[in-house]
Amino acid sequence: MPKILVTGGAGYIGSHTVYQLQQQGFSVVVVDDLSKGHAASVPAGALHVFSLFERERLAALMQAEKVDAVIHFAAFIAVGESTREPEKYFHNNTAGSISLFSAMADAGVNKLVFSSTAAVYGNPTQIPIPESSTISAVNPYGESKVMVEKILDWLDTSRGLRSIRLRYFNACGANNDAGLGERHDPETHLIPLILKAVISGKPVTLFGDDYATPDGTCVRDYVHVDDLASAHIAAVNHLLGGGATGAYNAGTGRGYSVKEVVAAVEKVTGQKVPFLMGPRREGDPDQLVADSSRLRQTLGWKPRFDTIEAIIESAWVFEKQNLT
Ligand code: UDP
Repeated sequence: MPKILVTGGAGYIGSHTVYQLQQQGFSVVVVDDLSKGHAASVPAGALHVFSLFERERLAALMQAEKVDAVIHFAAFIAVGESTREPEKYFHNNTAGSISLFSAMADAGVNKLVFSSTAAVYGNPTQIPIPESSTISAVNPYGESKVMVEKILDWLDTSRGLRSIRLRYFNACGANNDAGLGERHDPETHLIPLILKAVISGKPVTLFGDDYATPDGTCVRDYVHVDDLASAHIAAVNHLLGGGATGAYNAGTGRGYSVKEVVAAVEKVTGQKVPFLMGPRREGDPDQLVADSSRLRQTLGWKPRFDTIEAIIESAWVFEKQNLT
């Protein structure tokens, strides 16, 4: 079976993908500096703790392990922080990726799956959003990913580096069989914050109810992390089979408002969600919903979790087992 190097494999989406890769028989090598990830989320023996900026070490590892393809997750993801500290995002996410791509060139590895984001679309003019929509990020996090996507276009033409960019919508949920779930520090994401509010009784703040949506709260496309993991496996198989470079939206195609998420949590947990209605959060578009037909048709992807309740149920089980 092919050998895959996974950067950021100790993080949230990375660890779920490593688990699925191994379940499917791939050999996996993880590189993670543990600045955000958790060593315990990676199988013993697979983890190499160092930074993407150690180009020679990366290239040597890829050569020694005879890596066939790379899945690149390692990145900072907090939109709010990126607006306050843009250099941190361009350095870690963009320059870090360039270091990785140079190491891949040194080691002769030319297949890559890249974690991109719906944030590359900024404030979309069309819902659901097709991949052909205008690319126009509205925060440094999104821009750091746009830059990498553009670099990958050039590397495709200049040296045949084939890449699949998966533009994630809202990752959520957990794999309780694997003991994996969402553990960001600090946590900024809606579903874990609502579940923590249910457990603690301390209200979660909802960011605005004056958006141009049916109930006034933002609409997002929540996709289970295991379904994102399976999209990576489809993408890596596509590249290993000689498939071409391309960008693919990874979302279910169904949007839920923040208030609908609250209602779904109440249904799943059987408890009231304590919340306060606050002001808007800077940089939040009204709606982000994927047109994921390209991923479904070209890569044969089909999400297994097709209701928000099923996703929340998995996150709820994880949250109760991992009280912090
Ligand atoms: N949100 C909220 N309260 C929070 C965190 C998030 O109301 O404490 C809203 C946020 O404004 C957005 C949605 O929940 O409309 C999803 O936000 P999240 O941070 O989970 O993901 P993002 O869309 O930023 O990637």
